[in-house]
Amino acid sequence: LMGYVGFANLPNQVHRKSVRKGFQFTAMVVGESGLGKSTLINTLFNTRLYPPKETLPPSAERPQTVAIESISADIEENGVRLRLTVVDTPGFGDFVNNDESWKPIVENIESRFDSYLEQENRVNRQKIVDNRVHACLYFIQPTGHSLKPIDVEFMRQLHTKVNLIPIIAKADTLTDEEVAEFKARILADIAYHKIHIFQAPTYENEDEEAIAEAEEIASKIPFAVVGSDRVVKTPDGRQVRGRAYPWGVVEVDNEDHCDFVKLRQMLVRTYMEELREYTNDVLYENWRTEKLLGMGV
Ligand code: GDP
Ligand code: MG
Repeated sequence: LMGYVGFANLPNQVHRKSVRKGFQFTAMVVGESGLGKSTLINTLFNTRLYPPKETLPPSAERPQTVAIESISADIEENGVRLRLTVVDTPGFGDFVNNDESWKPIVENIESRFDSYLEQENRVNRQKIVDNRVHACLYFIQPTGHSLKPIDVEFMRQLHTKVNLIPIIAKADTLTDEEVAEFKARILADIAYHKIHIFQAPTYENEDEEAIAEAEEIASKIPFAVVGSDRVVKTPDGRQVRGRAYPWGVVEVDNEDHCDFVKLRQMLVRTYMEELREYTNDVLYENWRTEKLLGMGV
């Protein structure tokens, strides 16, 4: 073909190269204990990243301060390797005085920025390891009322540092109407406090299908999720991931039952790269500029 230069193959080249290098992605989970954080991570990535509680030593159960723990796993799907790191924050919101629960979390996020900046400044920048937090799943207790002061404070302190993804935990404990009303109140609180949460981006030249998908995902925020690492049997005999109750089965992967599928789409299937890009281009860049200005550079 005359005049064909061949750069139309660039997306495939990028794809092949990143497939070979593998992907790094770091997600943080924050919320009071018992809200289902570990279970949801296991459900999202279909792995037992977190062992069932019984196998943990009792001393691991009750930390006296907010602890920051990270677990990594290499997972592979159709030849694509993903190095997934989950940063857990046990202890958040569990104390009598939670005024500064957010502080160690901000410090952790900033120290990851610091380590990235330090690597960028090295003579040899070949092997930069990106340990920055690309998304923060914030678990909201399913009270059905509105955000609590600790929720507002956390999000206000964190929204300029990390992609916030608010989640209504254990949505199976609320009725559909309660979920709808709770979501509206949470969104009103978020708007009132001018908190910036991660939005699925849309591009002008995108096709209708992609725009519809982005809108569909955006309409579910804050995602009302149900987690389960068990397979249960539905009344009609299907084996599904879900939670069994005397009145029936709540199916994790059923979009009529909860927003788990949409959350996974946001985090993994559609916007993982966007989350990484926004972290690098906006959140990290702003932090870096501020830091350098503060040092009088
Ligand atoms: P974490 O402390 O936030 O990590 O919470 P865990 O994942 O350890 O879960 C605490 C308890 O809640 C466990 O007994 C889970 O089985 C249960 N759980 C987890 N997710 C859900 C959910 O979506 N709905 C309900 N009803 N229970 C859940
Ligand atoms: Mg946990």
